[in-house]
Amino acid sequence: MAKKLDEYNYAEIHAKACELMKTRKHLKRSAVEEYMKFFETKRAHSKAVSEAAKEYIPGGVQHNLANSYPFPLAIERAEGPYLYDIDGNRYIDLLCAGGPIILGNNYPAVRDAVMEFLQHSGPITGLYHPYEAEFAELVCKYVPSVEKYRALGSGTEADMVAIRLARAYTGKKHIIRVMGGYHGWSDQLVYSYNGETAMKAGITRECFENTHAIPVNDIDALKACIAKYENDGGVAAFIVEAIGQDSGIVPTTKEFHKEAEKICRENGMLLIYDEVVTGFRLGMGGAQEVFGTSPDLTVFGKIIGAGFGCSGGLGGRTEIMEMLAAGISAESDKMVKVGGTVSANPLTALAGITVLKELVREDVHTKLNEAADYLTQGIADLAETYNVPALVFNHGSILHVDTHGLQHIPYCVSDPEEQQKQAKDAYMNYLEFSMALLAEGVVIANGGKTYLPYGSIGILDDILKAYENVFRNFE
Ligand code: PLP
Repeated sequence: MAKKLDEYNYAEIHAKACELMKTRKHLKRSAVEEYMKFFETKRAHSKAVSEAAKEYIPGGVQHNLANSYPFPLAIERAEGPYLYDIDGNRYIDLLCAGGPIILGNNYPAVRDAVMEFLQHSGPITGLYHPYEAEFAELVCKYVPSVEKYRALGSGTEADMVAIRLARAYTGKKHIIRVMGGYHGWSDQLVYSYNGETAMKAGITRECFENTHAIPVNDIDALKACIAKYENDGGVAAFIVEAIGQDSGIVPTTKEFHKEAEKICRENGMLLIYDEVVTGFRLGMGGAQEVFGTSPDLTVFGKIIGAGFGCSGGLGGRTEIMEMLAAGISAESDKMVKVGGTVSANPLTALAGITVLKELVREDVHTKLNEAADYLTQGIADLAETYNVPALVFNHGSILHVDTHGLQHIPYCVSDPEEQQKQAKDAYMNYLEFSMALLAEGVVIANGGKTYLPYGSIGILDDILKAYENVFRNFE
């Protein structure tokens, strides 16, 4: 069941996912109880401060990616491959802040550059700094489809700008996306993040009216959706999380990308790649380099700011990007307006420049992808040894170790009642798996997704040990 899968062989992954619906296993109750006791005793200080935080922070949690079950950990130090909590426990960091920390925590070259800058300047002035152009030039150099680049405050903002620009450029109305893909939490794009009814509170129905979702890899559905809206304002763009839903857990295929690109060209609509996760992680050219495609617009985030905040950006063809207003002027009144007080700040730009240069100088992607292959194979072998049904595959240094199949449910189960039953069972597995790894000293993103940082390639066997300890507790 748990052989390492080919990340671009959707048919194989789909078949295994559907098998997982019938064979899913869980941690032994006795193991869960032990882990819980362990949290109560060895993470008591974290528990107390997270409870106290609820007094002033809604729910006490602000980072939706972090694994906060059974309660959030309070981290006070991050160095190299490790995180340290306020109870004095050390963890291997495979969350990497949800993706930005590709080199490892507090990476010396980045830290030193930023510290040196802060000796003679504050973080922001609101005026132009040469680092802005230096960073934009690097993005254009490494991502051939990007001729011009605009810095923005976050991936969410960059996704918002991408669809606004697509509408302005094409003069068309509708946007098509893939079911389950994440493009930030803006009103129009949050739709269909996790099924049709998720995250709708506080958003009016009209916001979703011009955004439509198709199943992954379904070219016929894409064509049908374009045809459906052709005489109702037309389709401005197809936006896709480059390797598929939730950083690729429901992966897209190369064939789908090639075909989708052709269809967008034929229909006078833009192809937008959301490379917030994959940009500068899969390689310097991102997912589009892997697929051999050339999107009209590319959305960036995460790694481009090295975790320094305000990490968002949009790049693309000159004639489209030139429609973005630059500053405030009578001329710019006719252009697409975007804003952001702290966007393009020199501190983040410098951190981004340093990371991109370091990725090339150290040939990070070659070494990291090799390490990720080793780790993924090791985890797949362990899952097999302990007879734990799991989907195990990696897109470069993004690893998926999925023992629940939560995101695959809509593709494998059609009956709504059965879908709900499956979701409940899968969600329990999802929470407990992350919790168990945390107790074994490894922090991952909720559910099973992990980002391997460069700083961890010397401790792969320690990571495998933690997975082994968890897998041996399944029944
Ligand atoms: N797009 C994708 C594919 C993402 O994974 C994320 C965040 O995880 C976003 C957009 C939103 O980026 P941000 O959190 O910077 O707003």
